[in-house]
Amino acid sequence: MRPEDILLRTPAGICCRIGGFHIDPTATVEKAVITHAHGDHARAGHGAVLATQETLDLMRLRYGESFAGSTQAIRYGETVALGRARVTLHPAGHVLGSAQVAVAANGLRVVASGDYKNVADPTCAAFELVRCDAFITEATFGLPVFRHGNPEAEIAKLLRSVDLFPERAHLVGAYALGKAQRVIAMLRAAGYDQTIYVHGALEKITRYYQSRGIGLGRVELARNANKAELAGAITLCPPSTSRRFPEPVTCFASGWMRVRARARQHLVELPLVISDHADWDGLTATIAATGASEVWVTHGQEEALVHWSATQGLQARALDIVGYGDEDEADGLSENPGEA
Ligand SMILES: [Zn+2]
Ligand SMILES: [Zn+2]
Repeated sequence: MRPEDILLRTPAGICCRIGGFHIDPTATVEKAVITHAHGDHARAGHGAVLATQETLDLMRLRYGESFAGSTQAIRYGETVALGRARVTLHPAGHVLGSAQVAVAANGLRVVASGDYKNVADPTCAAFELVRCDAFITEATFGLPVFRHGNPEAEIAKLLRSVDLFPERAHLVGAYALGKAQRVIAMLRAAGYDQTIYVHGALEKITRYYQSRGIGLGRVELARNANKAELAGAITLCPPSTSRRFPEPVTCFASGWMRVRARARQHLVELPLVISDHADWDGLTATIAATGASEVWVTHGQEEALVHWSATQGLQARALDIVGYGDEDEADGLSENPGEA
């Protein structure tokens, strides 16, 4: 048996024929295992969905009750038999509920990691390294220029700006699922105890995080606050909502903020390099540590990572999966950047 007898790429995405399921399929399928609730990985309309409870809940929040024919929640570390394969979910450290999918059969193990980061995040379980024969990785930031640095230093930068400009509203553009809550939790960890405001688009998910016991402190809706309250306060929002804010300082939290031209192009005054994806060092260190002899790259900057893997004596290839996006970018800077 070879890894491709366990998982292989099909038009609908990664498929486990012997288990009768797809992982994060880009088309509707009979049975799907979903790594996490970001829209490009978690689509509505599958027959059966297996995922963590949090991923199922977040899909329900996004798509409504009937997002799948049936659902099955499994815990991290729990193993279920699907056809002739054994499936175990392990934390991916990406967002709440995110999981790597380990698929084993005949003594071989292939791990599909979805999106992941090997960096501490107070809002989700830490990435767990799983030894395997083949490792399927993303490559969103798969270029040596991408080194995310210390996210705490970025939060400190934001807090310094709030101190410096107490009369200005600080608007932090951040992806609605994961990034926004992580920024809030990191602000709390840094000792910031003022009310933090969120745009309505972030409310449901933020309340859900709180209901799962993620400590975010006092979070209120920006639309219920007056201008005086918003001045000098921090508001998390999608980046197209600055009009009614008093002299906003526009910030954006994304791994792409490492690229100065991109921050400038989108008129971001205070770029915050905070990413929920592994950077180059994270990707390469993780690949090496899995012990995998084969590396398959799903999406992002595949070429450099495939090349690096080959220099390490690993068999590597790009899967070229069409349909996986980059949430850092998709929901972030693309709409009405002029207003951000
Ligand atoms: Zn994601
Ligand atoms: Zn993704």
